[in-house]
Amino acid sequence: MRRVIDTSLPYASILAARADALATLAVHGSESREAPDAATGALDPPIVMSSAFGFASAEAASDAFQGKSDAYIYGRWGNPTVDALEAKLAALEGATAACATASGMAAVSGTVLALCDGGSHVIAPRSMYGESARLFRERLPRFGITTTFVDATDVRSYEAALQPSTKLLYIETPANPNLAVSDVAAIVALAKSRDILTVADNTFATPFAQTPLALGVDLVVHSMTKAIGGHGDVIAGCVCGGDELVAKVRDFVVKGAGGVLSPLAAYLVARGLRTFALRQEKACANAASLARSLSAHPRVAKAHHPSLPSHPGHAIANRQMHAYGAILSLELEGTAKESALEAGRRVLGSVRLMTHAVSLGDVRTLIVHPASTTHSTMPKEAREAANITDGLLRVSVGIESARALYDDLARAIDAG
Ligand SMILES: *Cc1c(COP(=O)(O)O)cnc(C)c1O
Repeated sequence: MRRVIDTSLPYASILAARADALATLAVHGSESREAPDAATGALDPPIVMSSAFGFASAEAASDAFQGKSDAYIYGRWGNPTVDALEAKLAALEGATAACATASGMAAVSGTVLALCDGGSHVIAPRSMYGESARLFRERLPRFGITTTFVDATDVRSYEAALQPSTKLLYIETPANPNLAVSDVAAIVALAKSRDILTVADNTFATPFAQTPLALGVDLVVHSMTKAIGGHGDVIAGCVCGGDELVAKVRDFVVKGAGGVLSPLAAYLVARGLRTFALRQEKACANAASLARSLSAHPRVAKAHHPSLPSHPGHAIANRQMHAYGAILSLELEGTAKESALEAGRRVLGSVRLMTHAVSLGDVRTLIVHPASTTHSTMPKEAREAANITDGLLRVSVGIESARALYDDLARAIDAG
């Protein structure tokens, strides 16, 4: 069911309602109590670290290989710890199937390679996660897969870029790192009218703030390294969607390319996931509060967060998101004494509570300066075309005290 953010209600009550809607799924994976492990009674699914699984008989073995039973055979083809996690992920995204992968990039690259052939054309946002941008720009052309990068905030630019060989419209919203919002339903409508598939990277929003499958997207990809795992202690990814497409991606990326998630990593993600609704409620509230305070700060030229009525994507966010998410960015103003680039680097050196590190979606607040780090491999013209300015800082807001976070950042900004 598609939800809309009702801006006449206090944001805290919108977040509380969303957290309540997901709380049981995050803990149990469905509306009923998670069953204990059948063999041991363990309440948490055991970490099954076995590479291979024994057959009870010759007949059981041939049944398993012919797909007549769902007995486990070999860890790259299936594992009970990973299966239990996948069931929860599907429930949270409103999918019928989910496939866990070794990392977010295994999910992104594996999905594109599973769906495209040599000669396929893809349309992708100009502003997106740095490594995904490199995949489309530098790596996939070697295999004959070409990409046109567009202004993803305007569905007409997707339409203008269509070619007879267009196979896939790739979506990342809100986009890294400037939080640009794409109109998912409009992009889906365009794709469906031409029999083209849509894939959305939902890492930034998380299923707490946005469920693209409900808007008609074919597949959702995630870096579970981020808010789904939530504790910064694991690298993992997943793909969610309908049975057939997820099976196709699983066959390619997990079975064929070997991007399987380790059972130990699956356990860590599943453990982090149990508090997902609570963590996101707090992080999203913190981000909206920080964005509001920062936009009034004299050294901040602009704060970017979909919660701000001044944000160009605010109206679309209200239509397609359940919440505004926990990532924001801000652009520092240069002064006569220091350039915007210098100011950005200086602030990173003076924050004491926020952590200067890449990644996002952690319980800790993480801050980065994309122009000198995450997007430094992007050519300067491409970076500027994607609005990644020299003074841009990206903040992945954690679950600390909102007041303490603002005080820390404001003090670091004012120190210059
Ligand atoms: C981190 C991230 C990825 C890649 O995920 P890994 O787990 O690091 O491989 C892809 N997309 C987005 C939006 C991300 O933030």
